[in-house]
Order: sequence, then structure tokens, then C-alpha cells
Amino acid sequence: MAKKDKKIKPKKMEIKKSVKAVKTVAKEKVVKEKEGATERGKKSFSLLRGMHDILPKDEKYWKPMFASAQNIAAHFQFGRLETPILEELGLFVRAVGKGTDVVDKEMYTFEDKDGTKVCMRPELTAAAARAYIMHGFSNLPQPVKLWYWGPMFRHDRPQAGRYRQFHQAGYEIFGQADSAADAELILVGVNFFRDLGLPVEVKINSIGTPAERANYKNELVNYYRSKRSYLCEECRNRLVKNPMRLLDCKEERCQPVKEEAPQIINWLGADSKNHFMKVLEYLDELGVPYQLDNTLVRGLNYYTHTVFEFYAAEGGEEGQQSALGGGGRYDLLVEELGGRPTPAAGMAIGLERTVLALKQYNDKNNREMPKTPVDAFIAQLGEEARRVTLKMVDQLRNSDIKISFNFFKTSLKTQLELADAIKAPFAVIIGQKEVQDGTAIIRDMESGIQEIVDQKKLITVLKRKLGKFDDKR
Ligand code: AMP
Repeated sequence: MAKKDKKIKPKKMEIKKSVKAVKTVAKEKVVKEKEGATERGKKSFSLLRGMHDILPKDEKYWKPMFASAQNIAAHFQFGRLETPILEELGLFVRAVGKGTDVVDKEMYTFEDKDGTKVCMRPELTAAAARAYIMHGFSNLPQPVKLWYWGPMFRHDRPQAGRYRQFHQAGYEIFGQADSAADAELILVGVNFFRDLGLPVEVKINSIGTPAERANYKNELVNYYRSKRSYLCEECRNRLVKNPMRLLDCKEERCQPVKEEAPQIINWLGADSKNHFMKVLEYLDELGVPYQLDNTLVRGLNYYTHTVFEFYAAEGGEEGQQSALGGGGRYDLLVEELGGRPTPAAGMAIGLERTVLALKQYNDKNNREMPKTPVDAFIAQLGEEARRVTLKMVDQLRNSDIKISFNFFKTSLKTQLELADAIKAPFAVIIGQKEVQDGTAIIRDMESGIQEIVDQKKLITVLKRKLGKFDDKR
């Protein structure tokens, strides 16, 4: 036994040692990983909380959204406005207002090197009003119609469809008091979602003038005070800080109180009622369906009269309860920011939320985003052919022929399958023989009929086949 023990002991020691060594390495790895270091010792980076990358796989959503936003802007004659991401903090505090979630909790603010208090824009209406005043747009023929597309920043609690950097497309109409502007903006939104094939619902309300709202607020506060013990924590805060937002509460325990709450429509004067009725009449005329929602108040203080929001018609899942976009009239904002009294209205669409809604809608309905049409697929066989086709790819692109190709595939069969998959009407095939002859084969992908053409005439022949111009030659 003793002999045995002697022999085993050193082995046990070795095993213990190596187990310890392995454990130490593992521990160091965990520590390194916690510090963000990779196997090779360098720290790797992730995203900040609430931030996200937009990846190529989602281009099929972002591209048509931009195309639609741009087309609609051209059609309805909105001029593109681009403002800086950083603005003076005071602009948003004054425009959006104290007591709102955006100003009180969500703004990215900091002191610049010269001591100026700056803010990363949480929205763009205030900046558009700033630009309208600053560039003397009130001297231009009214209305002045502006649109924008870009990132906004709100330090909110991230969840599905809620980011700290997100994108909006927005449209603003300055210098028009008529209800037609409100209706036009709703129509713009409806058109945007229609272009994408996403059915939406419009919710609409009027919150009147500040004086009407003040009277209503008193009544609302009295009512909610009497129900205080039934309210959620947040609503008890709202009761003091921003009573209009009581109507916005989604907490289940507050719903019965909300349902019985006084309705703002009963506090509106004749002019406000008339303005609102006219908006609804316009929508009826345009055939835009809407739902009256007397709890819709919007989260920013500058709104007057009409407010509206867009919701996915087939929503319901988490994240989809929230609006895809919204807007309203803000008749007092320009004056509040130091400009001449200028009636105005606007709306913004949340693009990440639209992508989310599109994905959910497409999944549910077995639908795919329409693919960007391709005119021709260029297939090549062999090294020489690849050289010729690379040049051809460039020439065709410059001639407004939308092409696709894959130089990493060598088999003709695979390449034709790719052409088929992207529904290219034609394939252009270049093999050894075509390189030597200076020719190209054009294959009609539907009939399979092939035609040999001179490479010099390829663009002309393809364009004629595609109906891109009438070539009489
Ligand atoms: P708002 O004017 O604040 O209602 O914003 C207009 C639209 O922007 C909303 O309807 C949302 O679609 C979108 N949006 C607002 N905040 C966020 C956020 N934190 N993350 C993603 N989208 C947002």
C-alpha cells in the first residue's frame, strides 16, 4: 500500500497542479471577457444600450421606405430640410416643454467645450421651426412645406421598437391655418404606409387651444384626484406634472378610471370644433378611414387642435401597441420660438417601428417585400470571361440597365438558377467562345430562347428588349 501510495502521490500532485492551471486560465478568460477582451487579448466592442446597427439584410425595408418618403415629398411638394443633430438645449426645452417625458427624462444633453448647453435632437419639429424663423421663410409664399429624414436621440428605457437612437421621416407645413393642411399630412402618412403595403389605422383627436385645454385640465385633475387611490404610481406623478398625459396611460389598473374621464371635445369652443369637423370632412372626402380617440393627447407640449397617430391595423403584439407615427397642429410654436405668429402642422413616422410592423405583417401574411427589379443577370464561364464581364458590368450599369452577377460561381447551371431566383428577365452569358468571337449570348429566362449578339451591340439590344427605348436603327 505504502509503495503504491508513493507512486500515486506525485501523479495526484500533477493532476491537481494541472487542474489548478486550467482553472486559472479559465478564470483569467472570464475576467478578460468581462472586461471585453477577446482570446487574443484585445478588447472587443459592442453597441451602447438602446443603439442598433441597420444591417444589409434589412435593406429591403429601408430602401423602399426612403424611396416612398422621397416620392411622396416630391408629389406633395415638400422641400428637403436637413438640420444638425446638435442644437441648443433651450430650443427643445422651450418647444417640447417641461413636464414632458422627452424634456424631463430622455434628452441627451451635455455642455460643449465653450460651455454652451447642447442637446442631441430628440425630434425635428422644433428644429424645423427654428430653421423657418432663422432663414426668413415667413417671407416666402406660404405655406412652406419641409420634409426630413434622419436619426433622433432619446434616452428612454429600451424595449421592442424603442431605441435610444432611432430614425424618423417627417413632414411639416408652415403658414397654413386651414384644416386642409392637417388632412394633407394624414394623407401623406397613409400614402407612405400604403406604398409599403402595410395597412394602418389613423387615430385622431382635437386638444383645442391652450385656454380650452386649461379649463379641461382643471376638470380632469378634479376627476382624477377623486380617483387617486386607484391610480398607478406614474399617473399620480402625471396628476401633478402633466395631467393631459393621464389619458395616455396604458396600465391596466388605470383603464376604468380613464374610461369614465371627462372628454376634451366637450370643452372645445365653436372655432376649434369647426376646425376639427373640417379635418374629418376632408378625410371622409379622401376616403381615409379614421377612429376618433378622445384619449389621444401626444407627448409633446406644442400641439394645438388636431392630433393624430398611425397604428398597424394588424398589430397587437408587444411593441406594436405603440404608434408607428404621429403628429398634429402646432399653431403657437413658431411664435413661442421668437418668430411671427405662424399656424403650422406636421407629422413624423418612426422608421424602426415601421420595419418591425412590416416584418410582423409579412410573417403573418406570408408576404415578402417586393424585390428591386433586375434587368439582366451576367453569367460568366472561366477566367477570361470574368475579365470581360467585369467591364461589361460597369458599362451596363452606366447605361441604366440594372444587373446582377456572382463571380464566385463557376457553373453555368448555378448562375442561371440565381438569375431565375431574382426573376431577371434576361441572362447574358459569356464563355470562352464568346470572349474569342467578341459576342454575347442573351437568354430569355422565361422562354429559354437564346440569341447571339455582338458585344458592342449588347447594350442597344438589351435596352430594346427591356423596352427602355425605341431603337429605330
Ligand atoms: P413622437 O412624435 O414622439 O410621437 O414620435 C413619432 C414616432 O417616432 C413614434 O410614433 C414612433 O414611431 C417613433 N419613436 C418615438 N420614440 C421612439 C424610440 N425611442 N424608438 C423608436 N421609435 C420611436
